Amino acid sequence: MELLAKLSEAAGIPGREEEVRSLVKEALAGCVDEIEVDRLGNVVAHKKGKGPKVVVAGHMDEIGFLVSHIDEENGFLRIEPVGGFDPRTLIAARVVVHTQNGRLLGLIGTKPIHILTDEEKKKEVRIQDLFVDVGLPGKEVKERVRIGDPVTLHQSFAQVGELVSGKSLDDRMGVYVGIEALKRAKNHQADIYFVGTVQEEVGLRGARTSAFAIDPDIGVALDVTLACDMPGVQAHEQVTKLGKGVAIKLKDAASISHPGLVRFLVALAEERKIPYQMEILPRGGTDAGAIQLARQGAAVVTISVPTRYVHTVVEAAHKADIEAAIQLLTAFLENCHKADLRL
Ligand SMILES: [Zn+2]
Repeated sequence: MELLAKLSEAAGIPGREEEVRSLVKEALAGCVDEIEVDRLGNVVAHKKGKGPKVVVAGHMDEIGFLVSHIDEENGFLRIEPVGGFDPRTLIAARVVVHTQNGRLLGLIGTKPIHILTDEEKKKEVRIQDLFVDVGLPGKEVKERVRIGDPVTLHQSFAQVGELVSGKSLDDRMGVYVGIEALKRAKNHQADIYFVGTVQEEVGLRGARTSAFAIDPDIGVALDVTLACDMPGVQAHEQVTKLGKGVAIKLKDAASISHPGLVRFLVALAEERKIPYQMEILPRGGTDAGAIQLARQGAAVVTISVPTRYVHTVVEAAHKADIEAAIQLLTAFLENCHKADLRL
């Protein structure tokens, strides 16, 4: 969990994944045969085997912002989102502005309720109306901050009851599960590539180019999925539940899982008594969507960790589900050469 905490707290908006990239490289050193960084910034780690060729992908990027405007007089910053936010969750948050010469802490402020008119209270929150206060005079802000500097949400990783919670579990969780399984996998025949992908949140971009280069038979995306087992959500809309096991995806908006891979994962989970649940996600997608369509296509599936409050700084996952995901992926890597992928 120490690695997950570090990954969660690291910054990496799409296209600026360097902090996460160095954590991934460091964590994998010694347990794979080769590690390369490609032109887009994907970390590609190769654990050699006879075949089939398997790509396991977890995305390193997180939703965040770029500085889009600097108010030179008062020092307030305006921000452009990269990835899908619910603006309501951004009010009263702390952020970090990553300047060329170090970090600045910032505040997403808002007018106090005392001076809001009835009209304003009803108004929807829009990202273009938000501003970041770095607590410095305009002149100094202008010297230190540049247009395009990344801005990430500030949040520490925490254990909350049986859960872990923090920012960017989407998808440092997938990166963590992939690294842990690679460390645990012993006897494997598969030729395994683990890819820490870039720019997933803006359209599965790193997965697309890395899968083209690797040309895999099988692709496994690792990601979080929605667990909406919370007040106000009916049973049929919950997608998954925390504590009920790793989720094996059947479908989302970007991919349909290969039935042979789904059968194989279910059989593995049953045999090893790994708790699992089936997942159908109506909206959203994972790197599997891009891997599936690389070159002449690959058989894909997504192994998901159920997560509450996705795309907020209090994303929360159950420790037992995380362990189940690592166990299932490890068993898959050791045995996937036996999977029957005939349709
Ligand atoms: Zn994700």
